[in-house]
Amino acid sequence: MVHIANIRNFCIIAHIDHGKSTLADRLLQLTHTINERHFRDQMLDDMDIERERGITIKAHPVTMSYTAKDGQQYELNLIDTPGHVDFSYEVSRSMAACEGALLIVDAGQGVEAQTVANTHLAMQHKLEIIPVINKIDLPNANIKETCRQIEDILAISMEDELLVSAKTGQGVDKLLEAIVKRVPPPSSNYENNETTRALVFDSVYDVYRGVVVYVRVMDGEITTEDNVKLLRSTKETEIKEVGIFCPEPRPVKKLSAGAVGYLVSTIKNPGDIWIGDTITQSKNPATQPLPGFNAIHPMVFCGLYPVRTDEYEKFRLSIEKLTLNDAAFTHHVESSVALGFGFRCGFLGLLHMEITQERLRREFDMDIISTHPSVVFKIHLKNGEIMDIDNPVNFPDTTKIDHIEEPIVNAFIICQNEHISDILKLVMDKRGSVMKTESMDTKRVMLTCQLPLNEILIDFHDTLKSISHGYASMDYEHGGYQTSDMVKLDILLNGEAVDAFSCIVHKTKSESRGRQICNALKEAIPSHMFSIPVQAAINKTIIARETIKAYRKDVTAKLYGGDVSRKRKLLEKQKAGKARMKQFGKVNVPQKAFISVLKTI
Ligand code: GDP
Ligand code: MG
Repeated sequence: MVHIANIRNFCIIAHIDHGKSTLADRLLQLTHTINERHFRDQMLDDMDIERERGITIKAHPVTMSYTAKDGQQYELNLIDTPGHVDFSYEVSRSMAACEGALLIVDAGQGVEAQTVANTHLAMQHKLEIIPVINKIDLPNANIKETCRQIEDILAISMEDELLVSAKTGQGVDKLLEAIVKRVPPPSSNYENNETTRALVFDSVYDVYRGVVVYVRVMDGEITTEDNVKLLRSTKETEIKEVGIFCPEPRPVKKLSAGAVGYLVSTIKNPGDIWIGDTITQSKNPATQPLPGFNAIHPMVFCGLYPVRTDEYEKFRLSIEKLTLNDAAFTHHVESSVALGFGFRCGFLGLLHMEITQERLRREFDMDIISTHPSVVFKIHLKNGEIMDIDNPVNFPDTTKIDHIEEPIVNAFIICQNEHISDILKLVMDKRGSVMKTESMDTKRVMLTCQLPLNEILIDFHDTLKSISHGYASMDYEHGGYQTSDMVKLDILLNGEAVDAFSCIVHKTKSESRGRQICNALKEAIPSHMFSIPVQAAINKTIIARETIKAYRKDVTAKLYGGDVSRKRKLLEKQKAGKARMKQFGKVNVPQKAFISVLKTI
């Protein structure tokens, strides 16, 4: 174990594909933490979906031992953080566990949107930022231009520029020296360092060992003999093991001030470990928890339902298992007339929602359907009360509402000059405004915009990619709330509201959205013996209408051949289908009609 003055804790900031994983692997290899065989095995991204999408969802710490040119031995702790804004609270806790950050920029691509958002975050945490230009081996590497962008856009000095190729290994030895020289060592002075404080920056659930807690010790130390206390959740527990990641977990006797590692305790329930909490000794506890703690608040909600209603029990078990390894995912039972039993689920953001659904489909082999996602609106009532509403079902009576606020984001969009006008149109169409336009180089600009989160939930990113032919990049940070003219849109089938299709939308968007859903429902619902109105309504005022024309359905009509048995089979099939019908007044709707509509809108 090295002295605290020889510890360096740092994270890596990079836009996707700029070489974060490759460089991390290269560092591990150069410090003999892993051998050549492990190289490019993507040590750090171990979740399937993470690897596939090249994103990191959990923080992965790894400890390296490095003998520098000055002859001294250093302990380097790399905390690989999730780079996406959905996980910005987790990123902020990982950053709070570090003193420095490597900022990696691809010399062929230049600064991208995600680089900007995460650099802001690192600056807020007062981290020492070391800019690194990667992929200098590429024929199209433009080092001068990339340096200029880092200086101009990110306001970071490039005096001692570091040029590397993670692929060939060129320059990486210099990078190791720079980490030792430029990242400040941890400092500890709280209450004369007799009291222990450790920051919880992530945790994973292990079936055999319970919760493995990732910690950075700020003051004092933690050993296997200790009884400890969590200052925020007020839980007490007994330590069973402490260790470091090399990169696989390796037990050690103790973790001292400055160290990054893990601990295993008697805590079995992941819900008892809160990211950002402070661990202290039960004996001689710290009085002040570490700053920056926030309870996790989901930003995006939707209803999730099993497509096959008889799979509800399997679905419930899958959701519970998922919760074990994802403290940020929230759920509670809800039921819908159209879709049966399911869960109202909360996510940190869009990517988190997408990944969770993907995991349910893949890891748990579930066929699921989701209702239209929603953000959390702050509804100010006339009596002064403020309601947080994400589910249209709980929308209060309009006569009681004074005004409604919606969450907004500050988005950074980097695009080619020739796509600016199309992108401006998209931003306007999504009720956004452009705050700032900066030119990156002769070909690209960065737009800083404010956009309502609700508007970018569905297809913003895809549209951005398609109008820019894949060249534009976007990232955002949360920008608080603003007052907006939001309304609840109901969809009525034969005069009765269908809960699964209600949504909270901006007034200017309500008519087009209403029309779209009515149209889709009209296409999906089979004709009845009478005509059925499909209407969109705000506060009982109809704003759009379609009609499903009356039609006596003869399913056998298209079988002109005389095969009676085929006819009978078809009629039987139709009868069986009736069992899965949902009743709306006099209207029968097959559940699969609702599902097909939810898929198209
Ligand atoms: P991440 O998304 O930031 O983790 O990026 P990766 O480390 O997965 O790298 C993305 C792609 O860039 C991979 O195909 C790497 O092989 C490639 N790459 C990474 N570093 C270099 C480099 O220095 N030179 C070249 N030519 N390619 C690199
Ligand atoms: Mg990667």
